[in-house]
Amino acid sequence: ALQCGIVGLPNVGKSTLFNCLSNAKAQSANFPFCTIEPNVGVITVPDERLVQLEKLVKPQKVVPTTVEIVDIAGLVKGASKGEGLGNKFLANIRETDAIIHVLRCFEDDNVTHVDGSIDPVRDKDVIDMELQLKDLETIDGRITKTEKIAKTSKDPEAKRLLDVLLKYKAALESGKSARTVELSDQEQKVAKDLFLLTNKPIMYVCNVDEASVVTGNKHVEAVKENVKDEEAQVLVIAAQTEAEIAELETFEERQMFLDDLGLRESGVSKLIRSAYQLLNLKTYFTAGEKEVRAWTFPAGALAPQAAGVIHTDFEKGFIRAEVIKYDEYVALGSEQACKEAGKMHIEGKEYEVQDGDIMHFRFNV
Ligand code: GDP
Repeated sequence: ALQCGIVGLPNVGKSTLFNCLSNAKAQSANFPFCTIEPNVGVITVPDERLVQLEKLVKPQKVVPTTVEIVDIAGLVKGASKGEGLGNKFLANIRETDAIIHVLRCFEDDNVTHVDGSIDPVRDKDVIDMELQLKDLETIDGRITKTEKIAKTSKDPEAKRLLDVLLKYKAALESGKSARTVELSDQEQKVAKDLFLLTNKPIMYVCNVDEASVVTGNKHVEAVKENVKDEEAQVLVIAAQTEAEIAELETFEERQMFLDDLGLRESGVSKLIRSAYQLLNLKTYFTAGEKEVRAWTFPAGALAPQAAGVIHTDFEKGFIRAEVIKYDEYVALGSEQACKEAGKMHIEGKEYEVQDGDIMHFRFNV
């Protein structure tokens, strides 16, 4: 399954956020390094469309789709040189598909900051630098090897890789992350195998106090200004408050709490949806009396690959797919009505599945 890693300096609110994201109970205490083992949480993706489909189909059960979130142990200055839990931490990041970088934007004298004051841009730079140093180490190692190959074999692939490596090196040495380097499609392909930490898709979460959750604050502004060239999302969340909301028993109670704060949707659900986007994932549905279910597939997948998400046999034995668009399903009210109105489309192996498609796969066993 695809995974997002939560990173950030100690005491910025990672565990608090992770706790409200997942049912797993990570420890949250006011001192660094309390989250030593990476905690994995499986999180359901909120989707309004499932609620609609449930009303229409009245199935025995409804199954939402999920994303995995890993709370990664605290990073400190010097991690790339093995300080703190440095290397272990970096290895954990390498395994994730995308990064959620939590920045402390709340003031609270009772919660110590590792560097003594609240400055999310400085904090972000600390982490970025550690990741960049680690990437630089990776790159330097590869350059040495690739130079040798390029010289002896005259392999054009090696030459191309070397060009890419040098571009990355220049960026990293000037304090920029690998994701800021522009590459051609061909270069992109060689770059993928490098698994650079600073090349992973990223989003920023500004952890604010309750009073700033709607308005933001000066720290949030500073972060937004700092990352504006990265095309990354910046979410404003009050993790502590969200944790309190998550403890309320009923949906109505939680909604009332949110209304009081002036929020339409909980930050957590916003975060989950953004993470889903960050990973470039889409959703299709299957809708039957037994079960209405959301399935995750990578954007651009063709019908057999999308079918394979349900079962590998569906992919291997794929014959065709019957597809109804979500809007048409809702407008007409049932599969039968769609069929009669000619709104059930028969699609083959080359069909690129779209977000919101309601799928029925036909396959040989
Ligand atoms: P981590 O080290 O990044 O995982 O940070 P934790 O989630 O353990 O949080 C560190 C401390 O800050 C805990 O005592 C939390 O209760 C507190 N904390 C987290 N988020 C907030 C917040 O939004 N506001 C305030 N005032 N305290 C927070």
